[in-house]
Amino acid sequence: MKIVVVGCGTTGNAIIPLLKGNLILIDRDIVEERNLSRQGLFTKKDISKPKAELLAKKFSATSKVLDLDYTNVSLLKADIVIDCTDNLETRFLINEYCSKQNIPWIYTGIVGKQARVMSCTGTFCFRCIFSEVKGLETCTTGGVDLNLAKQLAQVVKEEVQRISKKQKVRGLWANGEWVSVKRNPRCEVCKGKYSYLEGKKEKIIKFCGSSRYQFKGNFDFETVKKRLHGKGTWFVYEDFYIFKDRVLVKASSEKEAKKKFIDIIGC
Ligand SMILES: [Zn+2]
Repeated sequence: MKIVVVGCGTTGNAIIPLLKGNLILIDRDIVEERNLSRQGLFTKKDISKPKAELLAKKFSATSKVLDLDYTNVSLLKADIVIDCTDNLETRFLINEYCSKQNIPWIYTGIVGKQARVMSCTGTFCFRCIFSEVKGLETCTTGGVDLNLAKQLAQVVKEEVQRISKKQKVRGLWANGEWVSVKRNPRCEVCKGKYSYLEGKKEKIIKFCGSSRYQFKGNFDFETVKKRLHGKGTWFVYEDFYIFKDRVLVKASSEKEAKKKFIDIIGC
């Protein structure tokens, strides 16, 4: 069984050791000191090394150190895809690819005290349930609960077994309870419209002089302002200048800017 795991952060650290099969691990990140308390598979000597490579070595898997996007999304060709990412943009991309290719995939998410798992195997999809709400709390500002990550990993293990036995999936698991899920008749993805796969939904990042990058119109200003305790029509937060219609962030590369944006503003 070929299993692709996207994301080797906190949820990935909890889930990957429980998986059996031909594992492909995708992650764009390197280990930072601040990761060590929640990502127990990494130690101090792993700092500055790619997460996917480190875990691939540990679990005899294949690593892909990259930012998954519409140009390389065919890397998800597998029997099961498991989402351990930290952003909605990537989840919508995974959802479109897997829906189109009929690949079962498992969404996982932890934000603050909320843990969720949902297997999408064709009767409904991620987009049927989750809309493009911007400015959601992210794990950098919200914090990931390790015990929740462990509970979630057990649920994912069961879901992988159910999918491999072609058993019916159970809907959405949210904080220990299963909620039944139905296809949304208005869902664009279920109708065969794939805007993320076509690259139409990629965030626009423009280099705008010196070391600042600009993001436009991909977040809800009021939600972000409230979460970061900002005041006024624009405000400064760490390396960010946050305006109603755009965000400027100081970074040394487009990649770093994108990462900072997702970590602090959300997706
Ligand atoms: Zn759908």
